[in-house]
Amino acid sequence: MTTALHPDSGGPVLSEKTARQPYVYRRRPLEEPDWRRIPGWRDVTQDDWESAQWQRAHCVKNLRQLRQVMGDLLDESFYADLERDHAERATMSMLLPPQMLNTMDTSSTDAFYADPVRRYMLPVFSDRRTDWPSHPHAARDSLHEAEMWAVEGLTHRYPTKVLAEILPTCPQYCGHCTRMDLVGNSTPNVDKHKFTVKPPDRLGAMLDYLRRTPGVRDVVVSGGDVANMPWPRLESFVASLMEIGNIRDIRLASKALMGLPQHWLQDDVRAGMERLAATAHERGVQIAIHTHVNAAQSVTPLVAKAARAMLDTGIRDVRNQGVLLRGVNDSPAALLDLSFALLDEAAIMPYYLYMCDMIPYSEHWRLAVWEAQELQHAIMGYLPGFATPRIVCDVPYVGKRWVHQLADYDRERGISYWTKNYRTALEASDPDALTRRYEYHDPIYTLPERGREWWRRQAQAA
Ligand code: SF4
Repeated sequence: MTTALHPDSGGPVLSEKTARQPYVYRRRPLEEPDWRRIPGWRDVTQDDWESAQWQRAHCVKNLRQLRQVMGDLLDESFYADLERDHAERATMSMLLPPQMLNTMDTSSTDAFYADPVRRYMLPVFSDRRTDWPSHPHAARDSLHEAEMWAVEGLTHRYPTKVLAEILPTCPQYCGHCTRMDLVGNSTPNVDKHKFTVKPPDRLGAMLDYLRRTPGVRDVVVSGGDVANMPWPRLESFVASLMEIGNIRDIRLASKALMGLPQHWLQDDVRAGMERLAATAHERGVQIAIHTHVNAAQSVTPLVAKAARAMLDTGIRDVRNQGVLLRGVNDSPAALLDLSFALLDEAAIMPYYLYMCDMIPYSEHWRLAVWEAQELQHAIMGYLPGFATPRIVCDVPYVGKRWVHQLADYDRERGISYWTKNYRTALEASDPDALTRRYEYHDPIYTLPERGREWWRRQAQAA
């Protein structure tokens, strides 16, 4: 390899004649695709498009509505594929805001099939594996969050942090949702669990627990998606959190910042967030919004406008927690394109990329740990360190671990072993909790033949 001196920096650079960088950065302007190309939205005005009410009222919730919107853009075979998936595999019901559908490639049925956002928001039967559609260790509530509820909906898994699931709905439903056990409407395959305590009592019980638990400093306010909670109730809950002296960090989880940015651009929401940000500033509390964007094409000018509007209210940050999904963002270029679109064009901080959890029927989306390690390696060094997303594995009963943190790895059987350095309430009296090894499993079809054969024998013996 030869190097040449770069005329600006004076440092050595790769000669373009002899070698290419694996990834070449170029600023790319954001684009809001024209929704009027879609038959059902031919006459939709800009005012309607930018209205949260219009977006919510025109979400696609079933096959009939998708046909009405898409007209003859899609072949019949696609609808049949989608219908079969809903009947036999889907763990989430369909709920797709126009904003998200509009970012998909609708130029042909083949292009629609291949679209990264379509792959996780409108999964079809032919997307899924038929050999091992689910891993033998897949489970509803694969992270065992409900087992760690201190009170209903409040998961206390880490020593200083809690997750408050304040509601079980979202403005959009993702096919791979890790909370498929609880979030959204039931599907033919999954009868969703329901909260049993009424919402005001449940939120009150969460606040009471936090008042009597001074070791907790950090609350993730999630669900579901906080954008589905009526603003006054959300504001009142967050304001009550800030009255608890030990709460120093509050993170509001909303994929809708991307899926329905119109929600966060409403005057009452912006004014309410300004009030919360002012109180937070006064009390030295950090409020951030955590969103969930998986593909660069989802970052549109409206998404950037919503993110900037939130930052303008005075909150600390807007961060992204994406999910690493095969066929969606499983290449270094896809992850870097996403990160640069977020950071450079929308002021959203790339933060985490979660490996897809071991829920039923998710095998086609999941990656092996070694693949995630390779991707982490491949994206290092392009982004500023503070904006380089960490790829994490949420190990059942352990919690988030960086993908290189495993203690051991049986590549033949695809079993990685992880340890933990804190106890949850579940292990309060377990002397071995901090030395035990906890397992995570790679998709079986990614294993060498000897490993696949081992799992086949296990399945026969079970
Ligand atoms: S927005 Fe989050 S909670 Fe809602 S369906 Fe998607 S992944 Fe699940």
